[in-house]
Amino acid sequence: MSPRHLTTRHPVARKQHQCWECTRPIEPGTVYRVDVTAYEGRTYSIKAHVECADAGMTLASDMDLQQAFDEGRDSLIEEITASGEPLTAFDLPDVVRRRLEDAIAEGEARDQARRAEALARIRAAKEAAA
Ligand SMILES: [Zn+2]
Repeated sequence: MSPRHLTTRHPVARKQHQCWECTRPIEPGTVYRVDVTAYEGRTYSIKAHVECADAGMTLASDMDLQQAFDEGRDSLIEEITASGEPLTAFDLPDVVRRRLEDAIAEGEARDQARRAEALARIRAAKEAAA
């Protein structure tokens, strides 16, 4: 049985939630979107920023865009990085831009961790040689 959509609400956040689409916090006081879905005897509440939910639906409803994003993500990141232009200079749907931002930030964190590790190895080798 496939998931069945039960209801959509737009409450005001009383506490902080995490956005399903962009993973960023939904701050208290902001209107957000909740989709309640039933699946195999359980209900699930999916919370998202209103604009993220809209962008997510745009992406999900556009199979070509979704596929292009999945297949082309790495080369798109390379192209953007090589261009030296900010991500905002590219005409991308918001949800794609946000996901790329996250992917780029993750990549940078990994690079930094690798650099730190290499540096620690060089230092350890120097100390061993001294
Ligand atoms: Zn969001």
